[in-house]
Amino acid sequence: EQEVAQQYAASVFAEVQRRNPNEPEFLQAVKEVFDSLVPVLACRPEYMEQAILERLVEPERMVTFRVPWTDDAGRIHVNRGFRVQFNSALGPYKGGLRFHPSVNASIVKFLGFEQIFKNALTGQPIGGGKGGADFDPKGKSDQEIMRFAQSFMTELYRHIGPDVDVPAGDIGVGAREIGYLFGQYKRIRGAHEAGVLTGKGMGYGGSLVRKEATGFGVVYFVEEMLRDAGTSFDGKTVVVSGSGNVAMYAMQKAAELGATVVACSDSDGFIHDRRGIRLETVKRLKEVERKRIQEYVKEHPGAEYHEGSSGIWSIPCDIALPCATQNELDLAAAETLVRNGVLAVGEGANMPCTLEAARLFQAHGVHFAPAKAANAGGVAVSALEMAQNRMGASWSFAEVDAKLRAIMQDIYRQSVQAAEAFGRAGDLGAGANIAAFLRVADAMVAQGLV
Ligand code: GLU
Repeated sequence: EQEVAQQYAASVFAEVQRRNPNEPEFLQAVKEVFDSLVPVLACRPEYMEQAILERLVEPERMVTFRVPWTDDAGRIHVNRGFRVQFNSALGPYKGGLRFHPSVNASIVKFLGFEQIFKNALTGQPIGGGKGGADFDPKGKSDQEIMRFAQSFMTELYRHIGPDVDVPAGDIGVGAREIGYLFGQYKRIRGAHEAGVLTGKGMGYGGSLVRKEATGFGVVYFVEEMLRDAGTSFDGKTVVVSGSGNVAMYAMQKAAELGATVVACSDSDGFIHDRRGIRLETVKRLKEVERKRIQEYVKEHPGAEYHEGSSGIWSIPCDIALPCATQNELDLAAAETLVRNGVLAVGEGANMPCTLEAARLFQAHGVHFAPAKAANAGGVAVSALEMAQNRMGASWSFAEVDAKLRAIMQDIYRQSVQAAEAFGRAGDLGAGANIAAFLRVADAMVAQGLV
């Protein structure tokens, strides 16, 4: 059976490659999932008969659209917008919007594909989607960001809705952008449909802990993993890449649990502060002043700044949390981390480790927390925001935080158990893929051929 399943997965993958030749990130994400599903397909051939893999890899729909806008000098620019509505077996499409010059069909589809499984792991009723634009927010004025967001929503609004598709933030889209997007949606629809977007401000339907959720969630997940290994964050040295929402709150929670976070980065370079990164400074620089991380060393002369963001992985640490972007941690970086004795790696970004890097960690017994399990806290709290919007309720910080922690613990347990049940004990990546796949596949089978 293993062999039949193996051949079947390989043949579906070959077809995916043939259809999507110029989409390396999407193919990478599909390959990683397929590799872990072979033992499942071997035990449950009905998934092959039902063509679940073939159906999973083809989005239900994908739109691309023109986003025209004017800069402060009155010049006209045109960007390309995307929304992929990948899978609605478990609920309305749910997933973030990314504004970054690298955004293209491959990136949006890899993110949307990952989102299906991540969302399934949360146990919340949400399907998978993703979107964005190849717009570069760097250096843009507040007015330019607003005009871009308004133009983007002027097309996107017809594709979304509280029970249809619920976007949120991702790289380049934070509370400010969600505010402008929401305002435009409301104006076009002529109705205050709070549940159409998540990550909203607290004054208009946002949820406490949403901002912190992805970063806190990564640390809660890794905490469970360390507990099973008989250890904890206490006294550990931690390196976190990135300095956005995910990185910032992962740093905060790791420090709260007794770790020393010695480095973080942005796309230009990284800072190394052996006494522990001063979070108030990073928060002010990035959230309020919207400056580069380099500025940190002006205020803390004991710290060092280095150009180039990938050098961050040569800093010796016990726990590495890549929280910047896809494929930021490659084989060479993984080899350096292993040589320096890294104990655990937790993926805060989406697919931050290359396939080769992840395999190396696995081969060397490094505790590895895969993105779609470890970073599911953000979208989990988004689902809680949707629930509060439906009820017109606003839960306390402690209440949402407790729910988030319980969800992360549950995702960890599910991943461990699914890996054990299908002969991949100790491989959380496989376990997460399997647990998520079973939930989505069963819902697809139950809903018939759609
Ligand atoms: N962009 C986040 C992610 O990658 C959150 C998505 C959401 O809250 O819908 O999961």
